[in-house]
Amino acid sequence: MDSSLRASALGLARELIRVDTSNPPGRETAAAELIRDWLAERGIASELIGPDPTRLNLISRIEGSGQGPSLMLMAHTDVVPAPLENWTVDPFGGVIADGWLIGRGAVDMKNELAARVAAFAEFAAGGTRPRGDVVLVAEADEERNVSDVGMSWLVRERPDLLCDMAINEGGGFLLRLADGMSVVPISVGEKKVTSIRLRVHGVAAHASVPDRESNAVRSAAKAIDRLFAYEAPAIVSDSVRQTLHSIGAGGSDEGMLEWASSQHPVLERMIPAMTRMSITPTGLATHEPANVVPPVVEVICDCRTLPGQGESDIRQHLEAAIGDGIDWEMELLEPLEGGYESSVDTDLFRACEEYLARRLPGAVLMPMITAGFTDSHWVRQAGGTIAYGFAPVFETAAGEYLESMHGADEKIRVSDLEDMAEFHLFLIRRLMVDG
Ligand SMILES: [Zn+2]
Repeated sequence: MDSSLRASALGLARELIRVDTSNPPGRETAAAELIRDWLAERGIASELIGPDPTRLNLISRIEGSGQGPSLMLMAHTDVVPAPLENWTVDPFGGVIADGWLIGRGAVDMKNELAARVAAFAEFAAGGTRPRGDVVLVAEADEERNVSDVGMSWLVRERPDLLCDMAINEGGGFLLRLADGMSVVPISVGEKKVTSIRLRVHGVAAHASVPDRESNAVRSAAKAIDRLFAYEAPAIVSDSVRQTLHSIGAGGSDEGMLEWASSQHPVLERMIPAMTRMSITPTGLATHEPANVVPPVVEVICDCRTLPGQGESDIRQHLEAAIGDGIDWEMELLEPLEGGYESSVDTDLFRACEEYLARRLPGAVLMPMITAGFTDSHWVRQAGGTIAYGFAPVFETAAGEYLESMHGADEKIRVSDLEDMAEFHLFLIRRLMVDG
């Protein structure tokens, strides 16, 4: 155990939480400057770059000998806002209580940010030349991802930063299954995401003489109800099947899904996300005054498809869900993006497995596709980078950890945060020195 590395990571995480980078508006430059100064005190140079001076990204590089692959340590500096209701401590206080670090970003993801920066600095201080470059990226605007100032901008404007491998957020929590097996998910890919507009048609009329059947508001309400009630058939891809086999599931696809879902409440939530498209109504609009029955009602939906699916699959899903008797058309509001998946046959995956074997003998590293979006998308898309979401969280209960993300009293066990720093130092040494 490296106590100075552990103390560095914890101290830095507390300092980072005290910098309010709630997005919107972000103002992540303050966090980037904090890391720059922290690295500078340890003799490590870094660069702040970006198109918006209030929302800069930090990058730093340990140059390798060119003998091996390069590794990016990535983490976003922004957090979601922390409305004060239900918080029992100051969300921006960097509070430690009873062995917990509590505050906005303690889980997502100033914890991992601090662990990666601390491990990067510790490795640099050792003076060993890595086989390939080790690149630290602390990027802005992940949570909203609408301003093109963070990773989307970096991969376009600074493609020199792209690495062969990257480690980011999205996994690492420990699930103790009902049958006794210990499983730790690692995120290897993401679903595709878009938003769609359904236009539900009816007949315009004066509201004083209503025809209940032709009212588009009524049809839209029915369509929404049917969308919520519909469950798409599960699709078990080869990679999902491998994942299920890795945690001991066997038999038919259907049987495996049922078994896996029964093994842990977190798996019960993850399995549908990995095997089904979701179309979730999130908005409604009409454009008439209250005394007019509108000819059209617009229903806005969030849509997440499996990696291999396209627009025709979305249309099929809607047809199956909404059924007969409703006149509607669909339009994609954004191109269907993402759906990239990194191979698990890599040195980075094996290094994570090796760490797990040392810390939790017998535990299984379980590849998963996440329903949410992370900045791994950008490096997979732009550079074909092998990117995983992983940082060990073995003490904090997985359910509690995931629930406090974006919630009140966001928290992590201090020991988990410290272990994260050690994991990243192990990872750099294993991949970039031992080879
Ligand atoms: Zn995050």
